[in-house]
Amino acid sequence: MKTIEKEAKKMGMYENVMHQFNRAADLMDLNPSVRKILAIPNTEIVVNFPVKLDDGSVEVFKGYRVQHNNALGPYKGGLRYHETVDIDAARALATWMTWKTSLAGLPYGGGKGGVQINPKNYSTAELERITRRFTYALGDNIGPEHDIPAPDVNTTPQMMAWIADTYMSTKSTNERTKHAHVVTGKPVGAGGLEGRDRATGYGVVVGIKAWAKHKGVSLKGKRYIVQGFGNVGYWAATFMKQNGAILVGVQDASGTIYNNEGIDPEALHNFIGQNGGMISGYIDATVMPNDLFFGMDCDIMIPAALGNQITADNADSIKAMVVAEGANGPVDVPANDILIAKNIDIIPDIFCNSGGVIASYFEWLQNRNGELWDLQEVLEKLEIKMNNSFKRMLDAAEKYNTDWRTAAFIEAIARVEQAYLQRGIFP
Ligand code: NAD
Repeated sequence: MKTIEKEAKKMGMYENVMHQFNRAADLMDLNPSVRKILAIPNTEIVVNFPVKLDDGSVEVFKGYRVQHNNALGPYKGGLRYHETVDIDAARALATWMTWKTSLAGLPYGGGKGGVQINPKNYSTAELERITRRFTYALGDNIGPEHDIPAPDVNTTPQMMAWIADTYMSTKSTNERTKHAHVVTGKPVGAGGLEGRDRATGYGVVVGIKAWAKHKGVSLKGKRYIVQGFGNVGYWAATFMKQNGAILVGVQDASGTIYNNEGIDPEALHNFIGQNGGMISGYIDATVMPNDLFFGMDCDIMIPAALGNQITADNADSIKAMVVAEGANGPVDVPANDILIAKNIDIIPDIFCNSGGVIASYFEWLQNRNGELWDLQEVLEKLEIKMNNSFKRMLDAAEKYNTDWRTAAFIEAIARVEQAYLQRGIFP
């Protein structure tokens, strides 16, 4: 009976984001017509497409792209390759993207998608064919001025280059080069931006530094743990180290490790590079049971893996002073309320991991205008944008006497509301 009750309490990701939206909409007294529009995605695309595997057999894959809202500009958001990709996840992640791009002040809406696979089960050649055929199946549902994908869980700069190449190849010869900005997160040699690789992790640490300044604490000597040691987790750890913080625990899909004396992010990154992307087997740390991860003794926690990881089942055990949401939707609604009641700060995802989409915007501008930006310029501009968002989030929290997540949502929703109210509804 107890287990059934617990299961019933677990929320789907879309239910989670809608709960966050409704909380903010009630508080800000959102225009009722605009509220109806924003409560549902504009478009949901599901494609089934065949791919020939290395052994000559054919497999049919299911791909998703949900376009939540484009009142402020083209849909923008990542593509994920993971077994948990389904319509609920794509809807939720697309909706978060609308709020993330709006809060950051970008001329974009929100979209998200992916393919329901475990990429570890496929060779590089198969992944190339899956990516190209998925792009072809999406056709003109994506486009540089319409819907611009980017990397997310298990998708890489190389895959973004395949998407750009496939999309461009479907255009006439004299149109082709105008379409490189159909996707961001490409390798630098293929139109990518210096620093896009580290932008999300860098932004997470910009967010943590802003929190520390607001609290009047120093990051030097602070102990932190990271869930997920992929793109976001690794780069966040790298920049935390530059600020003098000490990594004591890491969890990824292969297990959990702990070292009270500190784990060197670079050494762990080099290890996983030789170990199929997994932390298991790293010798400079002790292996821990997975369910002890969230209760580890630390000052700062960075969830940087999947959604719905911090729930009512583990939120009570958290000892950190602050949870910095590198992942999208890592804390569900019941857990959010438990953390607030425990006076644990939450740096909300739509602000905390927005460095990625901000750098994607710079890459899009760079391609669109035929420019080349350097790394320093990218990181400086990113930091300015995030610090502006942080200030607006704090101001809204004070004005509405609410938590940071709800304040961030209010700021983001207000911008979209204004666009609808000024333009009206066609016809
Ligand atoms: P990634 O594929 O590079 O890394 C994912 C990491 O999560 C891996 O270390 C993997 O082992 C780990 N993981 C997977 N399942 C897990 C589980 N059940 N328990 C513990 N760890 C698990 O992905 P990424 O790009 O670093 O994305 C991580 C999160 O950050 C996602 O929620 C993503 O939506 C979000 N995000 C990414 C970007 C970006 O630019 N890449 C931008 C904004 C937000």
